[in-house]
Amino acid sequence: MDTGKAFDITVIGCGGFIGSHLLDRLLSGGELRLCGIDLSSDKIAHHLDNDRFTFIRCDIHDREVVHRAIARSTTVVLLAALCNPSQYNTRTLDVIDVNCSGTIPLVRACAESGVRLVYFSTCEVYGRTTASLVGGDYSGRYLLREDESPFILGPVSALRWSYACAKQLIERVIDAFGREQGLEYTVVRPFNFIGSRMDFLPGIDGEGVPRVLACFLGALRDGTPLMLVDGGRNRRCFTAIGDAIDACVRILDRPDACRNRIFNIGNPANEITIADLAWLMADTWHRLVPQDSRPIALREVAGAEFYGQGYEDSDRRVPDIGKAQRYLGWQPSIGLDDAIEQAMAAAIDHYGPGPVQAKG
Ligand code: NAD
Ligand code: UDP
Repeated sequence: MDTGKAFDITVIGCGGFIGSHLLDRLLSGGELRLCGIDLSSDKIAHHLDNDRFTFIRCDIHDREVVHRAIARSTTVVLLAALCNPSQYNTRTLDVIDVNCSGTIPLVRACAESGVRLVYFSTCEVYGRTTASLVGGDYSGRYLLREDESPFILGPVSALRWSYACAKQLIERVIDAFGREQGLEYTVVRPFNFIGSRMDFLPGIDGEGVPRVLACFLGALRDGTPLMLVDGGRNRRCFTAIGDAIDACVRILDRPDACRNRIFNIGNPANEITIADLAWLMADTWHRLVPQDSRPIALREVAGAEFYGQGYEDSDRRVPDIGKAQRYLGWQPSIGLDDAIEQAMAAAIDHYGPGPVQAKG
């Protein structure tokens, strides 16, 4: 169908982990004309020559350029964010800006131009579980539902929640544009997606503290201890990027079913404590790099020591994916062992196994 628009989809933040996989899928066949906006193109270099893809290297704050691209699009997928936990208490103003105040003009531009917006929020909006505040009994209280679960954040001094708070507010802004100005939107709350091209390894292609998979991978390569923040007792549900992208494509394909709805996208079957994740990754490392004979050590560290003052953690977050099953017909199918192995194999392929000490 000719919409008269230059782009079917503009992906803002297309150069990151999720964006790069979304481009892989959307450009792998079909006829979609895509535009991508990001500060970086390292992870999408393989698409830059594609005739169906226009890359614009710019900051989301470059209003003129970004708004022009939005107005020329049928749908905008908004991924641009500062979304690394080590930034929440060290670059708080930037985190609030990129994830909320700097994003509001883009939301307004979508509303004004009649462009559908698919916005990537986060499961972190749920904050802590009720159970973490009232005691250890999780029965019936831990499943997070898009339209029922409360958002529970720590005090302002716990800077960790700056990101969650910014994402909560932008979700409310988007919803208000939907109610008051007719914006057509869908909000996605991702639950710990994992796969190739995630994050960075400090000192190699980035600085600071990446998310847990990259932290553990870096330690396995370097032969240093895997650091268990607060004993690694917190739990996460890890979701393979292949499953996650399936959900995104279904959202893009079903505007009516997804109109002004919020979806948890995660795999509740893949829940694990971070301590058990460390052991799983250690076992997987030995299988993928059998020539490495170095012993693997785990070390406990306090959150404030590892991330700095103001760090607090989400104890547990398990998605109720009933809505995604119902409206998208989506069901994640990649189990934890496979998802971890795929992500680690891709990283080892990309970075090499490091200074491995060969078995004598
Ligand atoms: P990512 O950091 O890999 O990608 C974000 C991209 O945004 C980067 O390429 C970055 O260059 C770009 N960006 C940042 N600031 C920008 C600016 N000012 N102007 C232009 N581009 C800018 O992150 P991701 O993992 O791909 O996550 C994408 C979205 O999904 C984010 O909104 C994030 O909050 C959300 N999310 C992801 C996960 C996950 O498991 N990966 C979990 C929860 C939420
Ligand atoms: N974590 C850890 N060791 C590390 C990095 C992270 O124990 O080297 C913990 C972190 O404290 C959190 C969990 O792993 O409990 C997941 O952290 P991540 O940064 O991947 O993202 P989050 O899910 O917190 O957004």
